[in-house]
Amino acid sequence: MSNPQPLGGNAMPRFGGIATFMRLPGTTDPADLDVAIVGVPLDIGTSWRPGARFGPRGIRSESVMTRPYNMATKDAPFDALRIDDTGDVAINTFNLLDSVDRIEAHYDELLANDVIPVTMGGDHTIVLPILRSLTKKTGPVGLVHVDAHTDINDTMFGEKIAHGTPFRRAVEEGLLDPDRVVQIGVRATGYADDDFEWSREQGFRVVQAEECWHKSLTPLMEEVREQVSGGPVYLSFDIDGLDPSVAQGTGTPEIGGLTSIQGMEIIRGCKGLDVVGCDLVEVAPVYDTSGNTAHLAANLLYEMLCVLPGV
Ligand code: MN
Ligand code: MN
Repeated sequence: MSNPQPLGGNAMPRFGGIATFMRLPGTTDPADLDVAIVGVPLDIGTSWRPGARFGPRGIRSESVMTRPYNMATKDAPFDALRIDDTGDVAINTFNLLDSVDRIEAHYDELLANDVIPVTMGGDHTIVLPILRSLTKKTGPVGLVHVDAHTDINDTMFGEKIAHGTPFRRAVEEGLLDPDRVVQIGVRATGYADDDFEWSREQGFRVVQAEECWHKSLTPLMEEVREQVSGGPVYLSFDIDGLDPSVAQGTGTPEIGGLTSIQGMEIIRGCKGLDVVGCDLVEVAPVYDTSGNTAHLAANLLYEMLCVLPGV
């Protein structure tokens, strides 16, 4: 059985055909996959600008130009692994808590197969039900979290579940191994000068954006690998970790963010870790008429495929 492959630009023009991620077949039984790409079109957990419900569709649309071979790292994920787009979770857009349960149930069913989930969001709320499901198999995970925000609020407007709370819930529920968590790119304005301290009190390493300015993150990732290795690792990449100049299509932009190159260095720096799942969240294409944000997201997801175990 040959591996599912992206449809080439000489078989069907890249602007034609049904928009799956990277023009994959989109028809493979998850039982026959190593990696399941999943869309979660949810944005009712957002606190500011909505629109991430259109993230998966936007990413698929902009992913059509991404080719299968990584010319820098020489990785060939589609040769090494059986990867396909398995479609979207049928969230209930009228009910956030029901949607969270639906996402967990969807991943429970998917992960009954031996697959690594690679998720296109959706707002960051979705990482909580994904981790609830995934850790039933893996136990607590280490985390590489790229974001402008720590997403560790206790509540938002009194609610325990929202896109700014998932990592506090994940710690409370024992889904994370807090000594193996690194948050990269957090910045901007807060409510109090100790906003990031709860993370540090849990044992997280918090790398503020200013520590990343004007330099390669390859040396940082050596330290990150050291810290998060020794067990399963999840990679959660909020596109707003990058600067609005390269990723304006998002709900909660913050100035002074990471470059697209630094984003790639972070992902490439995860090679060798036991990556058990990853996501790219908070892409809201409506705020970016160029399509650049979804295009960047598609390529970052491709870079994630290149660092999965077995590639
Ligand atoms: Mn986030
Ligand atoms: Mn964010």
